[in-house]
Amino acid sequence: MSAERVTINEVGPRDGLQSQPRALDGDRRLAMIEALVAAGLRSIEAGSFVSPKAVPQMAGTGELFARLPQRGEVRYSALVPNVRGYELARAAGVDTLSVVLSATETMNRRNINTGLDETATACAELMARAVADGVDGWAYIAVAYECPFEGPTPPARVERLAERMIEAGARKLIVADTIGAANPAQVRTLTSALVRAFGAERIACHFHDTRGMALANVLAALELGVRDFDSSIGGLGGCPFSPGASGNVATEDVVLMLESMGLHTGVDLDALVAAVDRCAELLDSPLGGHSFRWLRRRAGTARKSDHA
Ligand code: MG
Repeated sequence: MSAERVTINEVGPRDGLQSQPRALDGDRRLAMIEALVAAGLRSIEAGSFVSPKAVPQMAGTGELFARLPQRGEVRYSALVPNVRGYELARAAGVDTLSVVLSATETMNRRNINTGLDETATACAELMARAVADGVDGWAYIAVAYECPFEGPTPPARVERLAERMIEAGARKLIVADTIGAANPAQVRTLTSALVRAFGAERIACHFHDTRGMALANVLAALELGVRDFDSSIGGLGGCPFSPGASGNVATEDVVLMLESMGLHTGVDLDALVAAVDRCAELLDSPLGGHSFRWLRRRAGTARKSDHA
């Protein structure tokens, strides 16, 4: 009997890098992705098709896609903010495109300068277009638990936006705790409503570890049948438009917890440790989730400073 599978969608190369002060060049972005693929990650958010003026860290994503390794086996997604981004992504051969819909009026305005209704309509149109083009559209619902400007997000509104995205053709709905404010009880409430309405197989979760509750939140969603989680190598990245937001949940923390529980992620923990080190080297900045030092000792590559 094989272990139950959980999909880890690695977001470091987009969500993570986007919030870094320094832009990595194409070679370094590719090297990062190669390290992630070598660790066994098979779902990777590789970049976004946004204006390079607005987000210089993501300039050249089209060229990057042309160089990605093992394209048949690895699902590479890209974020598209609008029709222009969608068209650029399709021209680059991207077959999994995601949109971001923030659940509050103010967050949409601050983020992309359009209101909630207008953004929802634009996202729905992109999801419908993906269906027509025979590719997969994924919809992120950002600030699904709390907005830095408006406070707690009503779960009923998230459900309504989710329904709109699914009806428009979204293959997957990614519920994002963009500022890391959710607790497991809130995750249970929202996730159970979404699972009831759309089925666990359509739902994924994106947690931040800002308040140290990301793994507890993963567990809460896992217990409701969710088997698809975003995470970022070494905990790389926050949200540049959300004051006080930091820390995507670290891939190694999520993988370690799931594998310890007997679930199968396909990710090799020792190779993941090497990937964290490789990414830290490429970024010239320390990286690593809660379990990283322990994982590195386990992998037998502990550095002296780890024991300090
Ligand atoms: Mg994030």
